[in-house]
Formats: sequence, structure tokens, C-alpha cells
Amino acid sequence: MADLLLSEEERMLQNTVREFADRELSPRSQEIDEKEQFSSENWHGLASLGLTGIGIDPAYGGSGGGYRQVALAMEQVARGDAATSTSLIAHLCLGTRTIFEFGDETQKLKYVPDLAQGKKMAAWALTEPSCGSDAAALQTTAVLRDGTYFLNGSKIFITNADTASQVVMFATHERSLRAKGVSAFVLDSTTPGLSVYKQHGKMGMRGSATTELTMEDAAVPEDNRLGDEGKGFNYAMEILDSSRIIIAAQCVGIAQAALEASVKYAQQRQTFGKPIAQHQAIQFMLADMAVEVHAARVATMQAATLKDQDLDFVFEASMAKLLASETAVRATSNALQVHGGYGYFKDSPVERYFRDARVTTIYEGTSEVQRLIIARQLLAQYPL
Ligand SMILES: Cc1cc2nc3c(=O)[nH]c(=O)nc-3n(C[C@H](O)[C@H](O)[C@H](O)COP(=O)(O)OP(=O)(O)OC[C@H]3O[C@@H](n4cnc5c(N)ncnc54)[C@H](O)[C@@H]3O)c2cc1C
Repeated sequence: MADLLLSEEERMLQNTVREFADRELSPRSQEIDEKEQFSSENWHGLASLGLTGIGIDPAYGGSGGGYRQVALAMEQVARGDAATSTSLIAHLCLGTRTIFEFGDETQKLKYVPDLAQGKKMAAWALTEPSCGSDAAALQTTAVLRDGTYFLNGSKIFITNADTASQVVMFATHERSLRAKGVSAFVLDSTTPGLSVYKQHGKMGMRGSATTELTMEDAAVPEDNRLGDEGKGFNYAMEILDSSRIIIAAQCVGIAQAALEASVKYAQQRQTFGKPIAQHQAIQFMLADMAVEVHAARVATMQAATLKDQDLDFVFEASMAKLLASETAVRATSNALQVHGGYGYFKDSPVERYFRDARVTTIYEGTSEVQRLIIARQLLAQYPL
């Protein structure tokens, strides 16, 4: 397996998280998927390794490191249990990151240390029932009266909000302004007027909670607005640009798990007097999976390296997310094919990998949205 020119420290991080994922996360995967239940044991394990605050400045309780480190760790977490990595990404790369990047010093000191150390959990609420890809069309309103914002509206598909103590929320002061009317807020989960309902029946990532939120005159102190009024949409897009690198790493982890399961199974299963691994059709499937996983990993690490070096990375991050998510969908589908009928049943982990992978071309910007971003950058690079 290519080492991607990892430093000694990066390799140690990768090994530590891989061992943890094999020991703690994989064994619980089937159960939390079946019960549709987030695992607090997994969460405590992530916190004890510092993974709930990886990439966050140690001055604010984090474990430090850059996007390369977060990507390396997230690939291994996702390889162990994809649903747990979804909860971790929403907490770390969306919720905590937004407070860390755009909060003032008081807000950062108040919220980030407990979040980074995993004593508390964050959620991030942008999507609404009437708008996902077209996030600037959000309808939730924020009206300021005597030092308090009153929020009204609803959010859907929000990861973690049932267990989160803080929810980063996006709302508009004036709908007709679209992107320019949006501000970001940090809400305590106990905010009067905020209600959270768990959504059931997800196809995959079932060990990660997805929720619906409603706000009826939810009263939020003015001090809980993050950054400038009217800049919230820009903050959301900046956060998504970076978080996409880590979603790509998650996809690589899922695809890698599917590949490893397939290579093992192909050597055990016999048809026509020999292991299926000796049939060229199966070998070609395995080879294609390996090539695509490798390409997706290299693209992910390149985007992470650009981000860490403060270079332009948005084009590469979108390419990595598109490539890695579509790789995860194809690799898990091929893994199911390699496993034949057994792969179609819940006893086989590839059945779960297939379902878990499917959402990755949808959340944090669909594949179509990634293609729009990539095409926009291309057209700007080669003007007539
Ligand atoms: C398990 C899960 C967890 C999630 N977690 C969170 C979370 O924590 N926080 C949060 O805010 N959101 C979260 N989401 C929401 C997710 O980001 C949205 O579902 C996603 O952005 C797509 O929005 P949508 O579902 O409204 O689809 P739509 O925007 O309605 O898109 C429907 C289809 O139309 C296509 N489409 C839309 N516009 C265009 C266009 N201009 N050109 C071409 N095609 C287009 C899309 O690509 C898609 O195929 C989560 C979703 C899921 C399923």
C-alpha cells in the first residue's frame, strides 16, 4: 500500500487509529447499524485518543495537526465504522470548526475546549426541508429584539443534534437577500423554543443520528452570533470546502474496507474447483477497486496538503470528494458482487458498506454540485 510519503508521526497516527478501529469500532458496527443507535462507547474511545479535537489548536483543547492528520485519522475511523465517522465529521469538521474559525475569543474559550475533548458534542444545521443544495434559499429567520435573536423555522437531516450540546445554526435576517442575509449562531441545546426529533429509517450510516429541528421563537443572545451579521453563508461555504476533504477521506476508508473484505473472501470462496480469486473476472474487479481507492486517496491527501499549506485547494477538494464518493459507491457495489449471494445479507459487512457508501455522493454537496464547482473553476482558469 502506498505510504503517500507520510512522516514518521503521520504513520504512527495512522497505525494507532487503525488498531483502535479494528479493536473497538468494527466489532460494534453491525449492532449499532441494526439498532440504529449512536455508540457512546465509540465516542469515548475517539475522545480518549484525542480524535474529537484533532486538527484543533491545543490552546483551545484540541490535539493539533492539520487536514492531513484529520484525513489520515478519518480514513481509519471510517474503515472501522462509517457511521461513527459521519458523527465525528459533523462534530469536528462542521460544528466545532465553525466556532473555532469564526467565533470570537470569548465564544472559542467557552465552547471549543469541551467540544475538542469530546466532553460535549456539536451539530451543524444548514439544510432545511425546502432547500439543501440551494442553501442560500434557507427560510429560517432570525429577528433581533433588545439584544436577543428570535429564531423561527426548521432544519432537516441534521447529524448529531439529539446528543449535541451546541448546534451551529444558520438563519436569515431577510429572505430576499438570499446569501447576504444569512448569519451563523451557536445555540445551546437547552435553548427554549428549540426542539429536536430523531429521524428514523435511513438506508445506511444508521449508527449516526440524523435529526429534524424546529425553532419557535428560540431565544438566542446576541452574543451567540458567530462573526459578522450577514456573513454566515460565506462561513458555511468555507467550512464545507474544507470539510469535503475529510468526507473524501471517509469515502476512501469505506472503499478500503470493501476492498480488503473482497480480497479475503475471493481467496476463501471456491467455484469450479478453485478459489474465485483465480478467475480473471474477479481479479479484474479487485484490481479496478485497488486502482480507484489509490487514486482517491492520493487526491484526498493532495487536497489536504494544499489546505495545510494555505494554498488554493477548493478545486482539488471538490475533485477529491467527487472521485472518492463515486469510488466508494462503485467499490462497495463491486465488493457485493464478489461476495455473491452472501454479500446481499446482513451477516456480511459488505451489505452495510454498500448502504453506508450511498449517502456520500449526496451529503456535503452532491456529485452534481461538485461538478458545478469544478466546472466553474475550470472555466475561470481558461477564459477566452
Ligand atoms: C445522512 C445525512 C446526514 C446529513 N447531515 C447534515 C448535517 O449535519 N447538516 C446539514 O446541514 N445537512 C446535512 N445533510 C443534508 C445534506 O447535506 C443534503 O441532503 C444535501 O446537501 C442535498 O440536499 P437535498 O437533500 O435538499 O437535495 P436537493 O438539493 O433537493 O437535490 C436533489 C437532486 O437535485 C440535484 N440538483 C440540485 N441542484 C442542482 C443543480 N443546480 N444542478 C444540477 N443538479 C442539481 C442534486 O444534485 C440532487 O441530485 C445530511 C443528509 C443526510 C442524508
